[in-house]
Order: sequence, then structure tokens, then C-alpha cells
Amino acid sequence: MVEKRTVLRLEAVERYYPEADGKLEILKGANLDLREGEMIALVAPSGAGKSTLLHTAGLLERPDAGEVYVAGLACGTLSDGERTARRRNDIGFVYQFHHLLPEFSALENVMIPQMVRGLSHQEAAERAGQLLDYMRIGERAAHRPAELSGGEQQRVAIARAVANAPLVLLADEPTGNLDPETSTYVFDALSALARQSGLAALVVTHNHALADRMDRVVALEDGRINAA
Ligand code: ADP
Repeated sequence: MVEKRTVLRLEAVERYYPEADGKLEILKGANLDLREGEMIALVAPSGAGKSTLLHTAGLLERPDAGEVYVAGLACGTLSDGERTARRRNDIGFVYQFHHLLPEFSALENVMIPQMVRGLSHQEAAERAGQLLDYMRIGERAAHRPAELSGGEQQRVAIARAVANAPLVLLADEPTGNLDPETSTYVFDALSALARQSGLAALVVTHNHALADRMDRVVALEDGRINAA
């Protein structure tokens, strides 16, 4: 079997917050390899540092020590502008709450990141329509977020996150706010998309049934990542 390339690597990543009497250590040497097309579930109790880990992996925060590699590129020495460009091209985010723009339709929400990147209105509309169809929500494309159910909003948010064909999707409890049946439906759509496109995903979840359906489950424990 051909070895799949590593699209995201965390190497001995440390992250701490200063405190009056020292520092609060959140990540204490976290290591992770995420390969093309791979889906990894990250489980940990609240407060363990999952959001900190995703923000660091997604180049929103810089590690205090260690290195984050995206598609083999060490990102520690990049300027803020270069990190923003890498993030825009290579990384998609999905959060527990959808953060869609309320005054725009589902279709427009998926078009906007593509137009920011320079695609024409027509090109962006075509791809947005395809992605919404793929997430099985094409018939709701003209609706604004407030007119959509929670599960529909999350499917639009996933379509938006992958609109610019990132290498890596970082998802922070994407189904945490949904009932079990809707969670399964949203997860099925996400995993079908990942399988079809080779997208790699690191998915924080408390849902063990969904975690067990991913390629690997890892746990964040005492600032390090271990096989679960
Ligand atoms: P999780 O996502 O697993 O719930 P977080 O990564 O949000 O955990 O937070 C991990 C720990 O770091 C928590 O104890 C939180 O209070 C603390 N923390 C997060 N952000 C900051 C910050 N900017 N300053 C100080 N402490 C923070």
C-alpha cells in the first residue's frame, strides 16, 4: 500500500498561559500525525486543552515550544501573513456553533470564502451548489441560517469550511449541539465528503459512537496525545 502523506504534524507542541504564580501548562509535548484522507477523533474532558490544540494546529495560535507542520512545511518561523495564507488555503474549521453569517443565504455563506480567494461569482456559486448538494442540503441553498435546523446549519458550515478545498478540516465538537440522530446524519455527510475528496479531519467529539467510526481515536491527557 502506498504510504499516504502527512498533511498535519504536531511535534512536541507546548502551550501555556502565564499565571500570577507561574504558568498554566495546557499542552506539554503533544505529538500527532494526520495523514491524507484520515479521520481522527480527539476525545478528552472539558478543559483538557482541545480547543487550544485545534487553534495551535490551525495556526490561529503559535506554540510556545515545538513545531506545527502543514503539508510538510514548518510553520513556526512563518510571518503572521504567511500563516494566514496557509490557514486560508490548507485548513478549514468547523465549530460547535455554526457561525454562519445571518444576513446571507446558505449558498452565499459557502461562496464568500471562495470569492475572498479570488474566484468569480459564477465559479463560487457553482462549487457552493455542488457542495451543498453533496451535504444533501442543496434544496435549502436559498435560505438564511435562521430558517434552517441545527443539523442543516452544521452541514452548511461544513460545506463552507471545505469550500476552498483545504487539506485539513479541524472540527471542534461539530455535532455537540445536535440530537443523536441528526449527529449521525451530519457525521455521515462529513465522512462521505472526506472519503471522496481525500480531506483529512481532526474531530473533537464527546460522542463515542461517532469516535469509534473514525480511523483512529486519540485522547488528550495531561497535555499529551495518546492512543485511546
Ligand atoms: P477544552 O477545549 O478542552 O475545553 P481549552 O483549550 O479551551 O480546553 O482550555 C484549556 C485550559 O486552558 C482551561 O483550563 C482554560 O481555562 C485555559 N485557558 C484557555 N484559554 C486561556 C487563556 N487565553 N488564558 C488563560 N487560560 C486559558
